[in-house]
Amino acid sequence: MKRVTVIRGDGIGPEVIASALEAVRAVDADIEIMEAGMGLACFQRTGSYLPQETLDLLEESDAALFGAITSPVAYDPSYRSPLLHLRKAFDLFANIRPVRRWHRTVGLVDLDVVIVRENTEGMYTGVEREVEDGVITERKITRRACRRIVDKGIEICLGEGRRSITCVHKSNVLRRSDGMFREIFRERVAGSGLEAKELLVDAAAAAMVQQPEKLECLITLNLYGDILSDEAAALTGGLGFAPSVNMGDGFALFEPTHGSAPDIAGQDRANPVAAILSAAMMLDYLGMPARAERIERTVTEALEIGVRTFDAGGRMGTKEFTKGFLEVLDTV
Ligand code: ATP
Repeated sequence: MKRVTVIRGDGIGPEVIASALEAVRAVDADIEIMEAGMGLACFQRTGSYLPQETLDLLEESDAALFGAITSPVAYDPSYRSPLLHLRKAFDLFANIRPVRRWHRTVGLVDLDVVIVRENTEGMYTGVEREVEDGVITERKITRRACRRIVDKGIEICLGEGRRSITCVHKSNVLRRSDGMFREIFRERVAGSGLEAKELLVDAAAAAMVQQPEKLECLITLNLYGDILSDEAAALTGGLGFAPSVNMGDGFALFEPTHGSAPDIAGQDRANPVAAILSAAMMLDYLGMPARAERIERTVTEALEIGVRTFDAGGRMGTKEFTKGFLEVLDTV
């Protein structure tokens, strides 16, 4: 039996994960669930943002389902983002965000694209140094990271029946680094059977709005992927509908794209669909594609009959939505 560690986290994290777990139970997923702590509430309880116990449980798991965590408000020089730590510790090199408009009445654009973002390098190395009259930020791109992310994108496209793959870069300015990424993309996609396309990142941002039908899979570097995936989520109904996974070789952490949303936490207002869809992606990853697909069909069906939270133009709180969602799930 597959083992999953669940980390509910802070803010709306516990609210949306509760809904996601109900959906997982409702499709009779054959998984063993273990609970672990991480984040601010965990720190207040145990004195650690990421206890060793949690790392040990993750080590023994096939996957993790994670809600969201709140960063401490007061500056704490010893604070290190537990999520960044996990990305490093488990070498979760690919951030994968499938973006789809789940119903014609949510979002603005008929986008159906998977964004595959390099997750370990680029502008997120965090190495900055003061120089006269300014700051230099280091941006490191390695061949290995480029190869891995392109290969992951090819694997996803072939697995999902997507026919084209688009490399998103800025090699007209960053000739050596982004140029290298583009070369590696060309080399590795050749012979895959996929149509290889390329777009500058600014053109990709426009294409998502103006020619969404031309995009099936975007392979891109860390910062570009961060920005484009938020744009894509906004175009298709907002953060409440945006699932994601941080994937390595042999372990994956599934999470809604949104954060802990302190502004609505504890008010029964969060849309749990992003967490529910993240759980569905997890079931697919764990070898239960039919259960995943059933959950996905339920999302569209629920929207169709007006089972919606506030952000989707509905009037339901998280709990009422979840109850309605499970009723619809029974019928699909
Ligand atoms: P954090 O610092 O944890 O990232 P944040 O508030 O800066 O929190 P998000 O949590 O991503 O960032 O929230 C951004 C906005 O989107 C907030 O106004 C929030 O209420 C809204 N939002 C995020 N997720 C949801 C959701 N699942 N349902 C409804 N609204 C959401």
